[in-house]
Amino acid sequence: MKSKTKRTLAAVGVLGLVGVGLAVHTGTGTPSAWGIGDIAAICPLGAIEAAIASRTIVPPLLIGLAIVVALVVLVGRAFCAWGCPVPLLRRVFGIKECKDDRPTAAERDGINDSRNWVLGATVLTTAAFGFPVFCLICPVGLSVATFIALWRLFQFSEITLSLVVFPIILVLEIVLLRKWCHRFCPLGALLGLISRLNRTFRPTVAEASCLQRSGGSCSRCADVCPEGIDLHHPEHSVSLAECTKCGECKDVCPAHAISFPLLSRAAKPQRDTAQVPSECDEGVVVVAER
Ligand code: SF4
Ligand code: SF4
Repeated sequence: MKSKTKRTLAAVGVLGLVGVGLAVHTGTGTPSAWGIGDIAAICPLGAIEAAIASRTIVPPLLIGLAIVVALVVLVGRAFCAWGCPVPLLRRVFGIKECKDDRPTAAERDGINDSRNWVLGATVLTTAAFGFPVFCLICPVGLSVATFIALWRLFQFSEITLSLVVFPIILVLEIVLLRKWCHRFCPLGALLGLISRLNRTFRPTVAEASCLQRSGGSCSRCADVCPEGIDLHHPEHSVSLAECTKCGECKDVCPAHAISFPLLSRAAKPQRDTAQVPSECDEGVVVVAER
């Protein structure tokens, strides 16, 4: 099964979990409602906004945030490819990404990363208004809210404005702001910052199998990567911290040379240049950390 199909099933499963939350009345049915007791599996950005808006930090919020941070350290930005409803909706609406839409290394360079500015604005507006303003337009939240509104329509015949307003905003964002994920998403920016600590399940190339390393002209893995990552030239490409573990590179590799090991040689801290494989590398291409 191709990773795209698996990702579609995973994203549908996330919405299914929201449905389970609604069906068994474990809370409001939002991602924040999953968890044990008062410890909610909350959106990390939503948690930070809630703390800033209320000027209160309560232990359950901190514990929920710590759990999410631990997950991001373990699997990086995997949520963006596997759990976020936005890519799912893009596929539903048949919106394809152009190669020009992909970020470049320069655009992901700290202050040049427009997502970081949106993240900063999200925090500042929350502090200024005492309310999580960004949540009003967050496509992830709007997707879940639309799902909940539909659920209530079918379960309670409840007709509200949410049934119209949320989907309209959502469709406008997804159709008109095609570059949302790469240019605007503050959640992606936050996950990208945390996932700099991620050292597991990183895409790793087996040198012995790779056609490029044996003198061929293959660059399919770099060409297909939606995040602009080139596993062979990390010094010129977007950082591996932005990898969403989508698996597209693995799917297109004609030599089946890419895997996602729990730990790879790439996991070791290295200098900020590409590493030349040594005889000790046993056929594993060492990808530089950035
Ligand atoms: S490196 Fe591979 S798994 Fe990571 S984002 Fe790019 S295509 Fe997806
Ligand atoms: S797609 Fe596979 S064979 Fe081609 S350059 Fe990438 S790792 Fe090597």
